[in-house]
Order: sequence, then C-alpha cells, then structure tokens
Amino acid sequence: MTMSAFPPAHPERGTAETVTVTAGRRTAYLIALVVLPVLILAMAVPAAWGWGVGPRDVVIAVVMYLISIFGIAIGYHRHFTHRAFKCRRPLRVALMLAGGMALEGPVTLWTAEHRRHHKYADRPGDPHSPWRYGDSGPALLRGMAHAHVGWFFTARRRSSREHWVPDLMADPDVRRFDSAYPAVAVLSFLLPAAAGGLWAMSWAGMWTALFWGGLVRYAVVHHVTWSVNSVAHTFGERPFMTRDRSSNVRWVALLTLGEGWHNWHHVEPTCARHGVLRGQLDPSARLIRWFERAGWAYAVRWPDRARLLARRAPAAGLSRRRPG
Ligand SMILES: [Zn+2]
Ligand SMILES: [Zn+2]
Repeated sequence: MTMSAFPPAHPERGTAETVTVTAGRRTAYLIALVVLPVLILAMAVPAAWGWGVGPRDVVIAVVMYLISIFGIAIGYHRHFTHRAFKCRRPLRVALMLAGGMALEGPVTLWTAEHRRHHKYADRPGDPHSPWRYGDSGPALLRGMAHAHVGWFFTARRRSSREHWVPDLMADPDVRRFDSAYPAVAVLSFLLPAAAGGLWAMSWAGMWTALFWGGLVRYAVVHHVTWSVNSVAHTFGERPFMTRDRSSNVRWVALLTLGEGWHNWHHVEPTCARHGVLRGQLDPSARLIRWFERAGWAYAVRWPDRARLLARRAPAAGLSRRRPG
C-alpha cells in the first residue's frame, strides 16, 4: 500500500486557523523540549549508577508522574479538548493544575493543537502526523521524529487559540490559569523539591527529589505523552474503521494511563473511555468513573455498544485504507 506524501507547502498557511510563531519562540521550544531533557536524561544514567535512587525519590517521582499524566489524559485531553464529561469547578481547576504539571503548555494552547489534530488527522493540516513525508522507511522515520517532537520547533504556524478554543478563552478560570502558567511551571519543580526536603529534613533530600521528581519526571512525561502522536499513529492494531492511522499500542497505553488505545479515540473523540475492548486497561476512564460516582463528574459520555459494533473493522486491512 502506498500513501502520497503531504504537499511540501503548508496548506494551512495564511488561514484563520493558525498564527505565526516567532523564531525566538521556536528556539525556546528547541531548548526546553529537546536540549534540556536530553541533558537531564543523560545525567540520570550516571546518577542512578553512581548514587542509586532511594525509595523516597522513587515515590515522589511516581506521584508526580501520575499527577502529570492523569492531568493531561483526564484534564487537558478528555475534559477540556473533547468535553467527554462535565465536572464541578474544584475538580475542573484541579485537573487543569495537574495537566499544567506536565509542562506541556497552557491548556488553551494544548487544546487548540489537539483539536486541529483531530480535524485533519494524518492529512494536510495535521500539526503532527508521522505520515507527513510519505510512507517509505526514511520518510516515516523523519515523520515520526516530526510527530514526536520536531513539530514544536519546526512549525512556523501554530494553531490559533481564537479559532480553535473560543469556549476556553471565554472561561475566566481558564484565562486565569493561562496567565498564571509560568508560576504553575515553577510549582511543578517546587512541589517535588519541597516534598523531598521535608520528608528527608535535609537539603540533599530536596535536591535529589528536585532532580528525580522534577527534572527526570518532566523529561519522561514528555516522551511518554508524545509517543501517542508518533507511535500510536504508526504501529499497532486498528480494530476500528477510521480515516486516519490512529492505532492501539499496549505499552503506550500502559505508560499513558489509557491514552495509547488511540484507535477508538479517533472514532469517537468525545468518549470518556479509550480502552473499549476486552483487556484494554484504561486507568483514566476508571478515575473518571470514580469521579462520577462521587458526584464530582457528570454527563459522562460512556461508549455506546451499538456504535462500537458498527465501527468495528470487518476484516484486517479495511481500517488501513488510505486516508483522505
Ligand atoms: Zn491522534
Ligand atoms: Zn484527542
């Protein structure tokens, strides 16, 4: 099967859907999203080898990881982007803050990019399709690097918030969160540092927790969430019929707490559960269920059995048809 490469020119250029990104901002993305995380992860290897990682730092890093990933999966993605459920204000603000801990930008920016991704998934206009350069081996490798992280600092146009998220821009809580985002980013490092310092009652405890629970955790969280864009649009199974290449990848689903069941998600983006087939663990959906039982979340869009059956691919290969 072949698939045509994306047109070389950006078809979205000049439309109301995108805005220009300055060269300075693209350089900042390159440093914050590629250079620093690579240095941190490179430092983590000798640090773990030489001094080891104590249980205190592991616990703090895992808790920070869970807060970040759940914040992105349940908050930024399922609630703010797709409105898969409604929730009471304290939970909504908590989810926004938890998503902010992942250091993937203010919720309006994240949501704008992701709504555009769904509209154009794996077609011209998609901000991060691994199929952008074609489906030959080298083109796909280049496309995966682009979908994983390259698009942050190569794209000269980013999704316009006015166009994609007018609902969020009109929300005072969201606007307050956006303007406080630099402080939220600092909090994402202060929290683990404070927890480590207080737990150990020492400066050393603060520094090691800042390293593992702050820096290493943020680098890992980024690569884990980005693998939904790169890996779960390239490899894996496609049990449902979609116009794009969204797929299910078990290890991505495990690490992203359910987001790697990406094929059904592209069929029914507003569904609160992504892992809809037998054996597909979706901890994010489980947590939304608990919120619903507690009365904090309501109007939850759970999967509809008839829709599920109707969109099942009748035979392998049918769902792999050419997008567009
Ligand atoms: Zn996708
Ligand atoms: Zn989505």
